Amino acid sequence: MIRIVGAGPTGALLALLLERRGKEVELYEARPDPRLVPADSGRSINLALADRGIHALKAAGVFDRLGSALLPMRGRLIHYENRDTNFQPYGQAGEVIYSVSRHRLNQVLIEVAAQRTGVRLFFQHRFEAADFAAGTASIRDLHKHRLISVPMQPLLAADGAGSAMRREMAAQKLIQATETDLEHGYKELSMPPGPDRSCRIAKDVLHIWPRGNFMLIALPNDDGSFTATLFLPKHGPVSFAALSDAGSADEFLSRHFPDARELMPNAVAEWHAHPVGFLGTVSTSPWHVRGEAMLIGDAAHAMVPFHGQGMNCCFEDCMEFDAWAALQPWEAVFTQFSAARKRNTDAIAAMALDNYSEMRESVADPKFQLQRALSLELERRFPQRFIPRYSMVMFHHEIPYLTAQQRGAVQAGILTELTCGAVNALSDIDFDCAERLVIGGLPPL
Ligand code: FAD
Repeated sequence: MIRIVGAGPTGALLALLLERRGKEVELYEARPDPRLVPADSGRSINLALADRGIHALKAAGVFDRLGSALLPMRGRLIHYENRDTNFQPYGQAGEVIYSVSRHRLNQVLIEVAAQRTGVRLFFQHRFEAADFAAGTASIRDLHKHRLISVPMQPLLAADGAGSAMRREMAAQKLIQATETDLEHGYKELSMPPGPDRSCRIAKDVLHIWPRGNFMLIALPNDDGSFTATLFLPKHGPVSFAALSDAGSADEFLSRHFPDARELMPNAVAEWHAHPVGFLGTVSTSPWHVRGEAMLIGDAAHAMVPFHGQGMNCCFEDCMEFDAWAALQPWEAVFTQFSAARKRNTDAIAAMALDNYSEMRESVADPKFQLQRALSLELERRFPQRFIPRYSMVMFHHEIPYLTAQQRGAVQAGILTELTCGAVNALSDIDFDCAERLVIGGLPPL
């Protein structure tokens, strides 16, 4: 019997994959059954789903059930302060990522899990403590107000970025964990649909209003609305703390995002109703205590959301853990899996941080735009050697994150060299030099 704590994306998908392998799984979740309750407002309503996540959802037989909940986005649409826009494709023709409702995805995962005979679901059951000497976990049944004790060996803790299990392991000095806060937080605001559920801005793109030290983004929903997220410093002269009254928040939105403000009639009320969300990076070592309990997903390695990979990475964790699970005993599974996985999760956590300055600042810079266009052109010319870093991460599950990070650094050097000086357009690029640099610096993938 395998026990999993947390039925978010990681715990639910892991249960499905392990059940498929013939394991019996008990899944304990603190919240109510998502099939019976509406979505929480103000908590990252939609997510970008990319190749790594899709690959895992297909393996679990879930992807095809998402149907109309998947909204393809083929690139970024940059909105400047003067209301001009600039479209930047994510990849080659046909390479898209999807906006998907967090709540709907979670519902589908739980619907499928509920149909599997090897999975038992326990909602409103909250993990509270672990006794590693006795090998048991205490879980509170919130219906019946009683504490139950369940054996671990193994217990997989998929209880998210604020993991109670991680804090328990760290408090008992069995692991080391660091939680590094970003100085920026986020707030969600909504852009309602137009008449007859029509979209009031382009539906097949991710909208970005980059403004240097802060930015607004918007992802489409299947009812024609968009969920906008403002990323802003928590403290300082231009910050959530400085915009605590209705007038200043409204004035700030109207000044920096005039076109978006017109699409958000409820912005002021939502500003006050929705909390400022926390963003940060969690790093843990090791991820497990002997063969008893192991952290997985955000519980082990939460990251900032600027690469749209947190959940995709968690789904890839599940695929890799499932492959290692054939090995036994559990301590060997945990040790081998986490050693192999951590170098990749560390790489994507670092790339996610890099991407923040790219999204809020660089995307509006003509040099960056030229380098993006050049990287896609180099991919067309040398598809076995040069794949833009963004594409390696988002469209190539077969390329490990660490490889994407390492090759991405070499590629960044090539792009800088080819675009230095008075190079302002693709027609100015010396493609003979490009060929020498690509072939000399990048072995075939
Ligand atoms: P969670 O989603 O946090 O789920 C943990 C589950 O455990 C929850 O159901 C919780 O109720 C339960 N739980 C918690 N404590 C206990 C307990 N003590 N006992 C029992 N159950 C418990 N990722 C992407 O891939 N693409 C994106 O576009 C993207 N955008 C994001 C935007 C924002 C603003 C944020 C904050 C994150 C974003 N992410 C994105 C990251 C993504 O949300 C996470 O990586 C993902 O949700 C992690 O899944 P998880 O199951 O590990 O944790």
